[in-house]
Amino acid sequence: MSQQLLNWINGEAKPAASQQWMENINPANGKVLSEIPRSQADDVDLAVAAAQACYEIGGGGQGGAGGLTEPQRTELLVAVAGAVEARLEEFALAESLDTGKPLGAATKMDIPRAVDNLRFFAHLLAGQKTDAVAMADGINYVLRRPLGVVALITPWNFPLHLLTWKLGPAIAMGNSVVAKPSEMTPSTAILLAEVFTQVGAPPGLFNVIHGLGGEAGDALVRHSQVKAVSFTGGTQTGKTIAATAAPALKKLSLELGGKNPSLVFEDCDFEATVAGTARAAFFNSGQVCLCGSRILVESQLHDKFTSALVEQARAMKTKLGPLISQSHRSKVKQYVDQALQDGAKLECGGEIFGPDEGAFFAPTVLTGLSHDCASAQEEIFGPVVSIHPFDDEQHALSLANDTAYGLSATIWTQDLGRAHRLAESIESGMVWINTWSKRDLRVPFGGMKQSGVGREGGRYSMEFFSQDRNICLQL
Ligand code: NAD
Repeated sequence: MSQQLLNWINGEAKPAASQQWMENINPANGKVLSEIPRSQADDVDLAVAAAQACYEIGGGGQGGAGGLTEPQRTELLVAVAGAVEARLEEFALAESLDTGKPLGAATKMDIPRAVDNLRFFAHLLAGQKTDAVAMADGINYVLRRPLGVVALITPWNFPLHLLTWKLGPAIAMGNSVVAKPSEMTPSTAILLAEVFTQVGAPPGLFNVIHGLGGEAGDALVRHSQVKAVSFTGGTQTGKTIAATAAPALKKLSLELGGKNPSLVFEDCDFEATVAGTARAAFFNSGQVCLCGSRILVESQLHDKFTSALVEQARAMKTKLGPLISQSHRSKVKQYVDQALQDGAKLECGGEIFGPDEGAFFAPTVLTGLSHDCASAQEEIFGPVVSIHPFDDEQHALSLANDTAYGLSATIWTQDLGRAHRLAESIESGMVWINTWSKRDLRVPFGGMKQSGVGREGGRYSMEFFSQDRNICLQL
């Protein structure tokens, strides 16, 4: 029998009350890694009750969950970060097996980024101030207080990184947490919960529930004691969660999908642009919400750029991990087949490779595709890009904005005046100029249009996970 991972409730490992289990599959070889509880509403009730009890120790809003003061919460998050770092190899292996991503990527990026997230929000809390506003005959001061029990629902592409991105500010601001990691990548969330207990966090501060989105996830969003939901995942799921949460007017942060343009001008630094757009297209096998999956290229550079990108794509084939599952790979393949039926030319890739049981898919470059086709409009979330020529700046802008999404965009040009003009007019939450996915944890992160609602990062996260109250005193 394979290893059984458990839920983590009130500082203890627990199976689902129904004793139902689901398989967690390694996408690199199709083998069962572990079984996880297929939790239902009664398991969610237990986790939320534990989180609520922990929150009430803090006086139900007067102080932090578990009775922890601000300095104690900073200390706790720093201790958790240190304990994760001390077990980096174990965390990285678990992340690599769950997602299929190369062990080196998990070791050098995913886990260190998670550690950084925890430390960053710990220190941001320590430096936090609130406002006071003086009037001629009165004085206002602002109290920033936690929300209570908050739900964190996360996807499979960067499991621990995205969980800690939410967990850090949620705990820093004094909330208690119930997390629902993706059913396809459950392992590091449970290791993290163990670490919380190991460093002495109060029971119930951080709880983890495994299971399906439509069952455990839905029950969590619906629960009357859950005050806010921070969700990262697909746009359709985000809409479902928004509809479920609306009747109770829960606070929502929705970080959703993208179909992000890379705009390439003839005056770009060619070598840097080809390397940068290839990375933006194929990093993590294209399974990144920020991936530059639509490449818009000034017409006179189109052929030269396409040949250079194809060369990079071919060289990357053996370095990328698999897609997350066989069924996701079938979806990616269907998009490519549809694009070919819609008149695209396959410049490279398009094929399944590697061991039969692994979900590998070759980096794929398509040209000649009309911009209104499904493959140019919808998020594929795999190593597939389409290249579209444009005539001038205005044409580039209209193509860039011609999708339902608005998460990120990248502009490659040496004309910084043009870059700034375009950056202002492109409808997306984030724009990179001559770089891609360069991150500073203080800046706002989030999407426009169908890519999301709200911003996370730095003070934006701290604001989301708290509520400000104004007190006015007559002098
Ligand atoms: P998904 O929407 O299928 O699932 C995300 C999480 O939501 C999982 O934990 C899932 O179990 C849960 N879920 C599903 N249905 C639910 C429901 N009805 N109620 C509550 N929870 C539910 O997404 P995924 O396939 O895991 O991840 C890929 C998607 O995530 C892509 O669209 C990608 O663009 C997006 N993403 C966005 C960002 C961002 O910051 N904008 C970052 C990473 C990934």
